[in-house]
Amino acid sequence: MGPLLQPTVKLYENDAYLRRFSAAVLACEPEGQSWRVALDRTAFYPEGGGQPADTGTLGGARVGHTLVREGVIWHHTDAPLTVGEQVDGEIHWEPRRDHMEQHTGEHILSGTLHRLFGAENVGFHIGDPAVRMDTDIPLTPDQLARAEAEANAAVRADAPVRCWYPEPAELAALTYRSKKEIDGAVRLTDAGGADLCACCGTHLSSTGQVGLIKILSAQHYKGGMRLAVACGQRAQRAVAETWRDAEEAGVLLSAGPGRLREAVAHNAANTEALHRRLAALQQALGEAWAAGAQPGQPTVFFCPEGDGDTLRRLCLAVTGRTGAPCTVLAPGGRGLTYVLHCPGGDARAAAQALNAAFDGRGGGRGEICQGSLAATDFDAVRNFLLEQH
Ligand SMILES: [Zn+2]
Repeated sequence: MGPLLQPTVKLYENDAYLRRFSAAVLACEPEGQSWRVALDRTAFYPEGGGQPADTGTLGGARVGHTLVREGVIWHHTDAPLTVGEQVDGEIHWEPRRDHMEQHTGEHILSGTLHRLFGAENVGFHIGDPAVRMDTDIPLTPDQLARAEAEANAAVRADAPVRCWYPEPAELAALTYRSKKEIDGAVRLTDAGGADLCACCGTHLSSTGQVGLIKILSAQHYKGGMRLAVACGQRAQRAVAETWRDAEEAGVLLSAGPGRLREAVAHNAANTEALHRRLAALQQALGEAWAAGAQPGQPTVFFCPEGDGDTLRRLCLAVTGRTGAPCTVLAPGGRGLTYVLHCPGGDARAAAQALNAAFDGRGGGRGEICQGSLAATDFDAVRNFLLEQH
């Protein structure tokens, strides 16, 4: 560790929109392949309170990470800086602006959930792509929809957002949200009247700049809810992507957005009806096949196309009439797939012999076996089976 350093002056606390600044280098220490640099003052926000660290440039070096230890903000750089020199710093504005949109939106939504339903925010993290928010109580979809609507009304009201360090007497008289006991001075954030919360982060200067708050998903989590939320430009992108998805699904379903649920329900009902008709036709086909056989006569049939369920249904329809072993084959696997049914008997010996003769795989229990053969010559398989029975 270097010399004892004074706490860094946090320029971002007074002006969250400050992108460029100059500062004196107080310390520069190697750390692994990089360096960590302390300044007398900085506009770089260090990771904390759910908000990611700022990145940017300092002198000629790139800042990849920023963190705070005992009041000193450390900038992790890819090159050393000279202690005592004055350097120019610049933060990457696009990610910082995004963090401010998410953070301010989170205040408005958390404050609204607290005011409407008494929900406490017990977890907050600006992740990528979504912002994670945890509440301490369960909330219904209707409650979440109401909170989202009222939070967006607060956005449209475009009220000023204020951050300040109140005097002890003022602080004592205020009721504010706070996730944990705070050592030292408490910094409050008033999100346009929609929230009053202890917070060290960077915020937009008015609620209207959030633009839009959208709850993307909600799951029950540890007795409360885990919400995925998008604000600002992220919310616009999420809505645009979802809309495009809905439009493309609408083309497939010949239904526009707003009619998708109806169209999907209609398709599901159609599919169910088709399954019923298919099962009835499979039963009829199996019985027609069986009509050409004598009772007690082993049979083998070829189905030009069919999955395991189809072969099984056909097989059972035949044996239901003949009472004798039946095998149904279809193209598939490495050549032919089969289902073999020996009503009232054991199909395993016949299946093993079939597998041995045609490099097959598969098996089963008791009366029914299924598998696949490395063979495409149906007649050869049929002759083999009929000789076996
Ligand atoms: Zn905040």
